[in-house]
Amino acid sequence: MSISLRPKDLYVHARNNAINLDDRNVCYTAKKATTCCGKTLSVIAPRNEVTGSRSCRFLPKCFEKVIGSLMYPSLINQFGGISFDRDKSAIINRVKAKLLPKVRRKFNWDIVLTESSVVNACALPGGKIIITTGILDAMAKYLLLKYEEAYEGDGDKGCAYMTQNFARSIHSQAELKRFLTRDLENMVAAVLGHEIAHADIGHGRDALQYTILLQILLLIGYFMIFLIFAGQKQKAARERGPNGAERINKLNGMQKIINWVYGIFTQIAIKLVMLFNSRKNEYEADKVGMRAYTHEAGYDLRCAALVYDMFERKSGDSHAMDGCLRKMKECCATHPISHKRRARALEISKELTGHTGHIH
Ligand SMILES: [Zn+2]
Repeated sequence: MSISLRPKDLYVHARNNAINLDDRNVCYTAKKATTCCGKTLSVIAPRNEVTGSRSCRFLPKCFEKVIGSLMYPSLINQFGGISFDRDKSAIINRVKAKLLPKVRRKFNWDIVLTESSVVNACALPGGKIIITTGILDAMAKYLLLKYEEAYEGDGDKGCAYMTQNFARSIHSQAELKRFLTRDLENMVAAVLGHEIAHADIGHGRDALQYTILLQILLLIGYFMIFLIFAGQKQKAARERGPNGAERINKLNGMQKIINWVYGIFTQIAIKLVMLFNSRKNEYEADKVGMRAYTHEAGYDLRCAALVYDMFERKSGDSHAMDGCLRKMKECCATHPISHKRRARALEISKELTGHTGHIH
């Protein structure tokens, strides 16, 4: 029997008569509503396959694949073409074989070593990654410097690496090469884990989406300014004579100035949003890269700290830098300051493996 009541009386009636609700119906309706909401949410803001967080996505996966495939050959050429260095290629192939099985998204993944003195590695949407011979050379030089510092007893400068006793116990070139190759592979794994994280999370796609959305908002703003001024000009046109013409001229001048100011402010806003987003993505790629790929593949996470220590030495962004200067540099940089990334890398290493100290 159905009971028809005014909403106001519904609660009183339920309290007094203890309505026996059919649990199955309630469950079924609730389940149906939850499934429906879940499906809608999955379409509007699907979960990221890697991080699990929800975000709006309007560019399909095939778009990432196409963009990546189109840009890949020209980027390889830009970074000196494919390298045929046997030793370095062997390291890249070993890291590739261990890291790529850990990825979450199905792309035609590829990692290429290019012959360039530029110290760089980058990821394109769709799982295409480039690493230069320059970054491997820089890592090898950095490691040799750390060996030397440890030997002299100054090895903890910046980032702890090996003890003086260990450095003094190496007596042959072969032994040195063995350690150097192993640590170099660990550092390469840290860099490639970071780049894989960028592509697997979809940072390139997200940046493109932000740019498209911001440009649409910018156009809407221009259109609204145009509409406001068009209305005012119509009103002025109705005032016949010199007064009307003078007003239209003034409005035209004002519109030009407002468009100019609006253009500058929106460009600054876009730059700030992209800058903030870029730094957020870098930290996320550091974290996910270490946890989901580098650690899972069995590499030593302390070597990620060595990579950031190397960049810190290279760019000179030491925490000993003057406070104001450091803050200014931090504000304008697209990448987070290296010593912060190094500290975070050591935190993750401690959390996952308990190791923070010397590797040797
Ligand atoms: Zn990055």
